Order: sequence, then C-alpha cells, then structure tokens
Amino acid sequence: MLEEDEQTNRAMAARAADAVLGLTSRRPLRILTHCNTGALAAVAVGTALGGIKELAERGLVESVLAGETRPLLQGARLTAWELTQAGIPFRLCVDSAGPAAIAAGLVDVVMVGADRITANGDVANKVGTYSLAVAAHRSGIPFVVVAPESTVDVSIADGSQIVIEQRHADEVIAFHGHPVAPAETPVFNPAFDVTPNDLVTAIVTEDRVWPQRPAGHLAEVARGLYQRGWLDGTAGNLSVRIGAQALITASGRSKGELTNADVVLVEAETGVRISGPKPSAETSIHAAIYQAFPDCGAVVHAHPPYATAVAAKAMAAGQDSVRFTDFEIIKGFGVADPSALDVPVFTNWSDVPRIAAEVGKRLDGSVPVLLIGHHGVTAWGPTLEIARNRVECIEALCRLHLLTN
Ligand SMILES: [Zn+2]
Repeated sequence: MLEEDEQTNRAMAARAADAVLGLTSRRPLRILTHCNTGALAAVAVGTALGGIKELAERGLVESVLAGETRPLLQGARLTAWELTQAGIPFRLCVDSAGPAAIAAGLVDVVMVGADRITANGDVANKVGTYSLAVAAHRSGIPFVVVAPESTVDVSIADGSQIVIEQRHADEVIAFHGHPVAPAETPVFNPAFDVTPNDLVTAIVTEDRVWPQRPAGHLAEVARGLYQRGWLDGTAGNLSVRIGAQALITASGRSKGELTNADVVLVEAETGVRISGPKPSAETSIHAAIYQAFPDCGAVVHAHPPYATAVAAKAMAAGQDSVRFTDFEIIKGFGVADPSALDVPVFTNWSDVPRIAAEVGKRLDGSVPVLLIGHHGVTAWGPTLEIARNRVECIEALCRLHLLTN
C-alpha cells in the first residue's frame, strides 16, 4: 500500500503542477492552500501540497499563503511545518483572510485537497474551502482540487447527499484547553463543507485532469438546446476539446436535466473513453471532426426540425449536398463567400462509425456544418458558443429554404 500510495502521490503531484501551469500565466506563482494535504496527511509528497512542492522544485513558486484551518489548526501545525521543511517561502494566515487576499490580487491559484468527490464533481473538503472557491470564482482565478481517484465516489450523485460530520463544541469554545467563549455557548462546528462543481476549475487525480467548469458549461448549453426542442428525449450530443482530450455528453442521458455527472472525458481525436460514463454513440463523428480540423474547439449535434426536414428531402432526392443562396444568415458560418453555401448531406447509416468515416473523408473545411439525412445536423467551431450559433444558423436557413421553395 505504501508503494502504491507513493506512486499515486507522485503522479498526482506532477499532473497537478502541469494543470496549474496550463491554467495560470504569472511566474513564479502565488498559491493559496487550506488545511494539510502533504506527506503528513498522505504519504510521499501529498496531494495539493504535493503539487505545490512539485512546482517549487521546478522553481515556479514565489510564495504560499497557508490558511491556519480553524478549529484544529492543521494548516498552522502541519502545513507550516512541511513548507518550512521543504524550504518553500510561505506565510500563515487566519482562514478569514484568504478570500480577501484573493480579491486583492495576491493569489494566482487556489490548490486544495478533498475528502470526498461526488459523481457530478462536487467536492467535500475541510470547512473553509467553500469560501475560498467563491472568492476564486469571483476574482476569476483557478480553483484546483487535487485528490486520488479513491476519493471519487460515483455512488453519490451530488454534494447535497454528503453527510457532514458535526464535531464537539469544545473545539470552538476552547483553545488548547483554555476557554475562549462563555461556558455552555451553543456551537455550530461542521468539519467539512461542500464546494459545488461550478466553482471548481478542475479536479486533478493520479489518472486525469477533470475540467469541471467546461463540463458544467457543456451541460448548460445542452439544457438550453433541449429547451428549444432540438435535443428531444436523450437525442443529440455536444463536445468541447481541451488539448488532446474532449468532454462529450454521455449516452442515453436526458438533455433537459444534464449535469457534470453526465459528461465523459475522451481522447479528442479517437473518442476513446478516459473516464466517466459511456460516451454518446455518435462520439466517432465528433472525433472525425476534431481529427480533420486541429482548430476546432467544439462540436454540437442536434435534431432541429427544419434542418432535419431539409436533410430528409435531400436524401429522398438523391442529393449529397444542399445549396443555400443569398440569405443574409449565411454570414453566420464565417465562410469566405456568403453568396452561396453548399452544405454536405451524409447518409444516416445505422453503423455510426461508417458515417464518421465518410465525414472524415469528405470534409474540406469550407463549411463548418453538415446534415445527416432523416437525422439532424452537426456544426462545429472554435468555441462551444460558435458551434451552437452555427446550429441555430443552419436551422434558421433551412426554415427559410423550406418557406421559399
Ligand atoms: Zn443524432
């Protein structure tokens, strides 16, 4: 176990350091941490503190702000000692100073550990974590959670189902045995708090970097398209590329209620699942598009009615593309010549990888949208908003096309 834990720690620390460098620009870094996540809490180098030590070894840490972590002072007693041992410059602060330090621009990134992570990416950690996450979100700095895979419990849907331990009043009304409040003072003393996934930039484990904010954004855009009636039931799928990886909606999930727990991490250009539930059956089409276009940052596939009707008519007429002319909205596709738009139409093979193979072979990058006969539409672009806008544009265009033909 010791050897395994050490390997896990070192993998996590290296991954956390890389992730933080990808999320920040200032060098060297000013990092805020909470509680103790070092060798005293884990083994070897620890989790979040392991990542900090790794960054310090690379010469990239200017200073650390360590919260003392009331009421049991793990930050003061343990983290301060570990940072001293490691020779990393730091200052200890009272917990309530942390959020204001973030607001004052004194912190580039918050790195914390976790006691439990739920299926949707909510994070339970030492009380005081939540206020740091709110402050980081408000100031637009990354909030990174570093924890082993064993902390992730997919049997818990979200943070509201985590039972928080309430601890003894003596921890609050006395300090090292000396009373600091009137005897019998009633106390609220939760050991942990829960940070919701939309405040978490990324969760880093020994195996993966799980981007929470992009996952939440993907789910939010999916819910919006569902409300428009374009992702009826569990239909459709959306993805965003993050480096060599992509987040994509899971198979068979209701798009109207999509959350971070319904988003899968895959390899962008192959669609091979890295972690999370089973990815959408149409992942291979997304992968074909990412492979064809290195600049593509997001793909949206939906079943809006007018575009699907135009695709069905084209298929019935034996056409492999549809030409749209003159409409102003063609400009929405950012094409070189907006006077005409030839949108390719693909056969709706029941074998999805066969559609993906045809897409990969035929697309030339001139038009960032395609139709699938009797099925729907797929659009892509540098961002999720642009890909979604293009689905809106092709739907509007097909509606006009049907009204004028
Ligand atoms: Zn579909």
